Amino acid sequence: MPTTVRALQGDITQLPVQAIVNAANVSLLGGGGVDGAIHRAAGPQLLEECRHLGGCTTGAAKLTRGYRLPATYVIHTVGPVWHGGERGEPALLAACYRHSLELAAAQDIRSLAFPSISTGIYGYPFELAAQIAVNTVAAALQELTGFDEVIFCCFSAGDLQVYQRLLAAPPGAQPASA
Ligand code: ADP
Repeated sequence: MPTTVRALQGDITQLPVQAIVNAANVSLLGGGGVDGAIHRAAGPQLLEECRHLGGCTTGAAKLTRGYRLPATYVIHTVGPVWHGGERGEPALLAACYRHSLELAAAQDIRSLAFPSISTGIYGYPFELAAQIAVNTVAAALQELTGFDEVIFCCFSAGDLQVYQRLLAAPPGAQPASA
């Protein structure tokens, strides 16, 4: 069965998937945005487990349990801070998606939801980040075939429109008018 890849609008902490991805920071000790929402929803045991992980470098990913979340697991990954795009940000952002999928596959996770990593506090332009997200996931799923579903969880209706447009086009495709 091919993996279903889709986008939806919602709060990632509410999704009944096996794992959700957290856009964390290098300390893994909680922060604002989606990170704060995940810690609030999961409860204090999540922070307790994170304390033992020794942080996480940008582009890498680490796994914890989900505690009070509907999701069984949380995959914490650290996106790059946007500095204008010349400091390796695209490769680091792609590494977040790829490493999260690899970690999930190693854990036999079959359904996974991503937030739009780095596009909040870290300032990555949304379109550019979404393009990397969609292309990197499509490429990784050529090799990692055990997933039933990968979801891009968008916080706003405008964000969802961007993902739906990108998902409707084959990877690397030009706009329909071309
Ligand atoms: P970063 O520090 O990596 O930029 P943020 O948490 O600030 O991370 O933002 C990442 C994305 O997550 C943004 O697009 C933001 O709108 C979105 N976001 C924030 N809260 C939630 C949530 N509860 N569910 C899904 N997405 C969320």
